Amino acid sequence: MTVTSPDYVRFARQIAFRPFGLDGQKALSRGRVLIVGVGGLGSWVAELLARAGVGFLRLVDSDRVDLTNIHRQALYGAGDAADRRPKVEAAARRLRDFNETCVVESVEERLDRSNVDGLAGDVEVVVDGTDNFTTRFLLNDYCVKTGRPWIFAGAVRAEAQMAVILPGRTPCLRCLLEEPPPPCIDPDCRQAGVWGMAVAAIASFQAMEAIKILAGRLAEASPYLLKFDLWSNTLQRLHYRVLRQSSDCMCCHWREFEFLEP
Ligand SMILES: [Zn+2]
Repeated sequence: MTVTSPDYVRFARQIAFRPFGLDGQKALSRGRVLIVGVGGLGSWVAELLARAGVGFLRLVDSDRVDLTNIHRQALYGAGDAADRRPKVEAAARRLRDFNETCVVESVEERLDRSNVDGLAGDVEVVVDGTDNFTTRFLLNDYCVKTGRPWIFAGAVRAEAQMAVILPGRTPCLRCLLEEPPPPCIDPDCRQAGVWGMAVAAIASFQAMEAIKILAGRLAEASPYLLKFDLWSNTLQRLHYRVLRQSSDCMCCHWREFEFLEP
């Protein structure tokens, strides 16, 4: 890619952003990302990364599009819901419209400990688009074990949160949260509701962080557990310095990866 190539024109407005530049764009074009779950979070992240020029996206999700998804999940329409299309298939079709040079690999499976290495072993960053803490703790174990950056996020009601996990440089998810929370304090979107605005907003943070990682700008990665509530207009940033617990994390200190074990 040179400054006169068509790709430069397509991405000119982000290349013009000096901290990123042409070198950043070239890095994105070589970038490989795994998005685990293409529901609310993952579908927005996939759209933003494809439009931004990321070279390879692997989408993993075993769900099919449902009418209750449309209000908050980018990439899907009523036709997809009527046909009950697999999300990874419907998503890949739309993403090709946004960037025909982005290679999109659709995997209609649920990520678990048996397939995590095959799905995440050849990417530079893993993006959490899941809806459950069991899978997040599995991802945390895998990414810490293999030294792979990953970006945790969740949204429910009008609330959302995000944290960038850079193994060896930041706390891991288990430093922030020892065990998966029980369902009584981890309400799902079906019971508690969820707004598309909260999902889209936190997915934008995830996508920006993924781009920083792909561009090699780790020093610019967010050092906060970020939380907000769009309904009550509250925003909270908790610096990792404050959150980091004593050095006894089972995962990143003792390197016991129980979620990877049978
Ligand atoms: Zn840890």
